Amino acid sequence: MTTHAHDAGEMIDFDQRHIWHPYSPTPAKVDPVPVASAEGAYLTLADGRRLIDGMSSWWAAAHGHGHPALKQAAHEQIERMSHVMFGGLTHEPAVRLAEKLIGMADEPLQKVFFSDSGSVAVEVAMKMCFQYSRGIGHPERTQLLTWLNGYHGDTFATMSVCDPDGGMHSLWGDLVMEHVFAPAPPARGADEHTIRAYLSEMDALVTEKIAGIIVEPVVQGAGGMRFHDEAVVRGLREICDRHGILLIADEIATGFGRTGALFTTQAAGVTPDILCVGKALTGGFMSLAATLATDEVARAIDTPEGGGVLMHGPTFMGNPLACAVAVASLSLLDDGQWRRNVARIESELTAGLAPLAQAPGVADVRCLGAIGVVELEEPVDMAMATATCVETGVWLRPFGKLVYTMPPFIATTEEVTAICRTIEEIVTRHAAATGTES
Ligand SMILES: *Cc1c(COP(=O)(O)O)cnc(C)c1O
Repeated sequence: MTTHAHDAGEMIDFDQRHIWHPYSPTPAKVDPVPVASAEGAYLTLADGRRLIDGMSSWWAAAHGHGHPALKQAAHEQIERMSHVMFGGLTHEPAVRLAEKLIGMADEPLQKVFFSDSGSVAVEVAMKMCFQYSRGIGHPERTQLLTWLNGYHGDTFATMSVCDPDGGMHSLWGDLVMEHVFAPAPPARGADEHTIRAYLSEMDALVTEKIAGIIVEPVVQGAGGMRFHDEAVVRGLREICDRHGILLIADEIATGFGRTGALFTTQAAGVTPDILCVGKALTGGFMSLAATLATDEVARAIDTPEGGGVLMHGPTFMGNPLACAVAVASLSLLDDGQWRRNVARIESELTAGLAPLAQAPGVADVRCLGAIGVVELEEPVDMAMATATCVETGVWLRPFGKLVYTMPPFIATTEEVTAICRTIEEIVTRHAAATGTES
């Protein structure tokens, strides 16, 4: 067989006949859009059109695409070695990355486990939590407490802590492990009384079977793009301390500046026992994730009761190429310029999207850091949304009732304005199509 260049039409054709895309049937209902290259804030399509990547390619490309420092790190590393096994071996990229992560995270988080995707990082966090419980003499603690509207990944263990109804995994109710769900946290800006009532409801759900609380602090991502107060996260920390259970913070989406803080738990003044990071870790270059834990967690795992070893070890664990790029990506955050950019993007998204709150068919508008969300009253038509995006030069990927953006931190004022205009256009066309015009 020979390979040959495909024109865009052939490519779409073949793709539709043979390739699955995320959460899609095959063929997908809407043709995928062929991309030829990506640089800075832009995707260049096969037909030469340029679209602003308003999604940072699912939170990952925080510094934009093809950043020269990341390219250089990748080139240099690939000349030395792309991959070696991590069993019994170590290397500078992994050591430097661990050093970098430990330096950025709160001081108690001293241990790092590298994996190849966010879902696996969460699997590892759950495994750590249950091994820890056994290690401290509580083998009966076999469940986690979480809340509705959460999202933690697509593998089976992570699905078991995703929103059981509204999320992507309602299919699997009878096949996944059983954990305990509290109601979704009160929306950001809730009054003190509401938050206190919510936390005491949560506290009451901590039975003798609960080993820990796992949540996405401050921003619930793929489970509904909902924000809550830092006070809620502080309350969870208190609940965990009171019961002697672990707080697992899944910051795979929020980590490395997205909300304006390095980590949302740091903005809340909370140190989790276990912290999961991924997505923007390599600046969107390739797949890499990490699970950080405290010395205390590691010590309990290391006991005979705890298992004695952390029972996990992916083939591509600590991949040198990915680690080298991650070191470069995290180093780009060192000068703090991202803070000014994220603050600017927040005010531009707020100014650009707030007027849509009054638009027909819109249920809510909310912005936090470099995240802007318009929630509709009805699910958006994806064919219309995709066509609008390509037409207006901004790439977005709405889901359900949510039209949202997480621009790269390097997005200029003009680019953020363009993103807001595309969202507005989708909202307008949606209202026209669903007959919700005023
Ligand atoms: C994306 C995401 C995951 C899963 O990461 P993958 O790399 O897609 O496996 C887990 N938790 C959160 C909060 C996420 O946003």
